[in-house]
Amino acid sequence: MKIEKLFFGAVLGLSGFLVFSALAQTPKTPKSALVVWGGWEGHEPKQCVDIFVPWLESHGFKVEIANSLDAYLDLEKLKKLDLIVQAFTQGSIKSEQESNLEEAVKRGVGLAGWHGGLADSFRSNVEYEFMVGGQWVAHPGGIVDYDVDITKPGDPIVKGLKKRFHMKSEQYYMQVDPANEVLAATTFSGQYAPWVKGVVMPVVWKKYYGKGRVFYTSLGHVAADFNVPEARTIVERGMLWAAHVIQ
Ligand SMILES: [Zn+2]
Repeated sequence: MKIEKLFFGAVLGLSGFLVFSALAQTPKTPKSALVVWGGWEGHEPKQCVDIFVPWLESHGFKVEIANSLDAYLDLEKLKKLDLIVQAFTQGSIKSEQESNLEEAVKRGVGLAGWHGGLADSFRSNVEYEFMVGGQWVAHPGGIVDYDVDITKPGDPIVKGLKKRFHMKSEQYYMQVDPANEVLAATTFSGQYAPWVKGVVMPVVWKKYYGKGRVFYTSLGHVAADFNVPEARTIVERGMLWAAHVIQ
C-alpha cells in the first residue's frame, strides 16, 4: 500500500514537473519571430528553417518567414519583433538592411542563428560581425569527427545535456569576440592543421548587442546535423533565450 502511494505520488510529482517545464518554456503572450533564410544553398537553409519554424510555432511564436534580406527594410516592423532568426550564408547585405537589423537588435530584439547562416554571412561587414560575436574562417579537413564539450553546464541553454557529444561535420575555426559568454567548445586535434593543435574553440555562445540578446552556435552545417539531439536542443533553447522566454 505504502509503495503504491509512493509510486502514485512520484507519478503526480513527475507529471507536475513536466507540465511546469513545458509552461516555463512557453511564452505567456504570443511572441513574434522573423525567420530570414537564403544565401549559399549547400547549408540547406530552407531544410533547417523547416525544422525550427514548426518548433517555434508549437512554443507560442507567431512566425513570419522571408527568403530575402528585404525583410530587414521595415525598421518599425523589426522593432516590434521578439526574435530574428537568420540562416543566410555568404551573400551581401545592403546598407539599409544591415543598419535596420543592427538597430533592431540594439533596441532589444533577439537574434539567433547557427553555423554559416549567422556567422559567415556578410564577410565585409564588420559591424555585423561585432553584433554576432564571431566570423567563420576555416573548417580544417572538411567533414570530420569531433567532440563538443559543454563548458557552462549550469546555463539554461545547455543544462542537462551530455557533457560531451560527438559530431561528424564541419568543425568551425572562428575569429571570436572575447566578450562572448561561451557555453560549449571543441578542441582541435591538429590532424588537418597541425599549427592549431590543442586550440579550444567556442561552439556555442551568447552575448548582448545593445539591449538585444544574441545567440549563436557553429553546429548545423546541414539539416541532418540537427539529428544530433544536443545540437537541436541547443538551437531551440538558444532561440528561447534570445527571445527572453528563458533567462
Ligand atoms: Zn558549412
